[in-house]
Amino acid sequence: MVEDDETIERHFNCKICQISHRVKLNKRLLEGRTKFPFPYVYLHDHINGVEHKEVLTILYIDNNLQIRHSEIQELGYDSLFSKEQVEAITKPLIKEIELLRNEIKKLNREIDDLKIKLTSKHYTRQY
Ligand SMILES: [Zn+2]
Repeated sequence: MVEDDETIERHFNCKICQISHRVKLNKRLLEGRTKFPFPYVYLHDHINGVEHKEVLTILYIDNNLQIRHSEIQELGYDSLFSKEQVEAITKPLIKEIELLRNEIKKLNREIDDLKIKLTSKHYTRQY
């Protein structure tokens, strides 16, 4: 797997496949983040003879794009998610959304402050 300027390659041990998977992470994932580690959802196929299932993994990524921790959810090929699985998938994402919302609020306040500063500067210059 080739690494380029935009992505970095990481590995994590998968208990289901019993191998180390390679994951390409985009460096832009770190942009604007202040809270680490953050959840990253990674879905892959597991094929063992005729057995085929999808494995959903939540990777927790730190500020060096290192995988700190992984949580695995096995999905049957054609089965529905269980309540526990849905919770396991959505909980970290909801948390992530909350963090991002707070970030947006903070940034909006900073923008407002800057606007006020800019207007007052213009004001003093003109008069
Ligand atoms: Zn796997």
